[in-house]
Amino acid sequence: MEKIRKECETCTLCPLHLSRTNVVFGRGNERAKLLFVGEAPGAKEDLAGKPFVGASGKLLEATLREVGIGEDEYYIANILKCRPPENRDPRPEEVFACTPYLERQIAKMRPSLVVCLGRIAAAHLIKKDFRITAEHGEVFEKDGQKILAVFHPAAILRDVRKKGEFLADFEKIRQILAEEK
Ligand code: SF4
Repeated sequence: MEKIRKECETCTLCPLHLSRTNVVFGRGNERAKLLFVGEAPGAKEDLAGKPFVGASGKLLEATLREVGIGEDEYYIANILKCRPPENRDPRPEEVFACTPYLERQIAKMRPSLVVCLGRIAAAHLIKKDFRITAEHGEVFEKDGQKILAVFHPAAILRDVRKKGEFLADFEKIRQILAEEK
């Protein structure tokens, strides 16, 4: 994983390298069976060089604690490793350039379950027309890899009524991990 991280830290494959402060490669236990994937770093992540360090990250961590998934039981990365200006959606050419890093992270980790955080990650990793409201929590199999999507934590911060469904999806994640042990 260190080799991939080092390559990523000097990457200039897309124009996002021009505006980044830090490359945001990932954080957590590289040997974990659970991998979360978000879409791209935001302003706080760009400054810290770590994914999900703001309010969304705190909500994610609190929810994981609530269902009994420990800090050492997961890893978090994004599809894009550099922040898109003004937090705009990732562009197809940026995703095309950056996805091989994530694919290599997944190949190295070989997680039991990949969890997409939000619709955009799900649209890239599960299927283009992924409907987050209807299909969150549903388990898909992609190239032999179990994968599901949950609402992006930021969506829960905006609309707390989704919290029940969000929590139920995390209970399911815990259950899948228990079955894989
Ligand atoms: S977003 Fe990805 S492909 Fe683009 S410069 Fe950053 S690491 Fe390289």
